[in-house]
Amino acid sequence: MNDKLKSQQFETRAIHVGVVPEDGTRGVTPGIYPSTTYRVLYPGDESGYVYSRWANPTRKALEETLASLENGTNAYAFSSGLAAMHAVLSMLKPGQHVIACADLYGGTRRQFERVWRNFGIDFSYVDGRNAADFEKAFTSKTALIWMESPTNPLLRLIDIEQVASIAHKHGALLAVDNTFATPFLQKPLDLGADIVHHSASKYLAGHCDVVAGALMVKDKGLAEKLFFNQYAIGAQLGPFESWLVLRGLKTLHLRMERHSHNAMKVVEFLESVPQVKQIYFPGQDGKPVPNKMRLPGGMVSFELKADFETVKKFATATQLFVLAESLGGVESLINHPAAMTHASIPKDVREANGVTDSLIRLSVGIEHADDLVADLRQAFGSL
Ligand SMILES: *Cc1c(COP(=O)(O)O)cnc(C)c1O
Repeated sequence: MNDKLKSQQFETRAIHVGVVPEDGTRGVTPGIYPSTTYRVLYPGDESGYVYSRWANPTRKALEETLASLENGTNAYAFSSGLAAMHAVLSMLKPGQHVIACADLYGGTRRQFERVWRNFGIDFSYVDGRNAADFEKAFTSKTALIWMESPTNPLLRLIDIEQVASIAHKHGALLAVDNTFATPFLQKPLDLGADIVHHSASKYLAGHCDVVAGALMVKDKGLAEKLFFNQYAIGAQLGPFESWLVLRGLKTLHLRMERHSHNAMKVVEFLESVPQVKQIYFPGQDGKPVPNKMRLPGGMVSFELKADFETVKKFATATQLFVLAESLGGVESLINHPAAMTHASIPKDVREANGVTDSLIRLSVGIEHADDLVADLRQAFGSL
């Protein structure tokens, strides 16, 4: 990236950073470079590309854009969000301890509990809305805090700045899963986090057509360790998928504005529905909003005053909102966490964390807000 671009606004960098300067075609978008290997000038030459697991031009264009958008110095793209997380956890050693927020993506908890525990790593979970919860859970072995904000699926906000200062006071690292907010709404590295994690399968790519993950950092030592884990473990993102994420990023700012606008309209409607027991939406509980999120984002959760079967019926009664896992695409999705995204979490643990059988999570897309509200209205009418 040239120096002039560095000082430009987010929207401009999203569109202009990811070009491939060494490409002689002068294309205004980068090419997809499938070559696994590259001509070297002499045995041992590492002056250019060598082998695509190590570096690839299309992936590099994406990684430079991702680093720029999160205000980091380096980014690494992986074959999924969970593969990116794996590269972070691979920095730990047996005996070490991780503290995570309890309201957490189901697959994150599954990897912690069913993969990493087998390698001798220990985990504790805390509510975290009061940052002191993290401090109380520290042990002499704690090496990492892993958090989301907003959390999934209850959309709680956790104060990244406060958690970062607690982590650093005790010599631990803070990794923030920024999938729900995206760097357009919140930049954890600016708030003191050491590592930003993304499932790029969601808002970053934005069209439900690619599975991808990413890590961003601004510390040289951490960058070296994560780059090592990327090429030593080998779960990096392929060139075609890199290109898809890069294309998605160019409209991230427009999409996040519309997702947020539509989500606010949906919340306004839900507030008027007698069958709705409680709405979960960033900033909704009336408390001052930490982290200075620019807009609330496109995720809305709510509890129905209804039994499991009725909630299931509601989840299949919408027509525009597609009943499906995942989130963050242009199309609206509806999810029943207890039966879908969070079904892998034991029922007692899930319920203790507030993810009840009557919870519905919406990923509000960028269709017309009036059509989305009308769809929800007819679904409530069908109960
Ligand atoms: C989807 C998701 C993940 C996992 O990412 P994959 O790309 O599906 O591997 C992690 N964290 C959050 C918050 C997610 O929504």
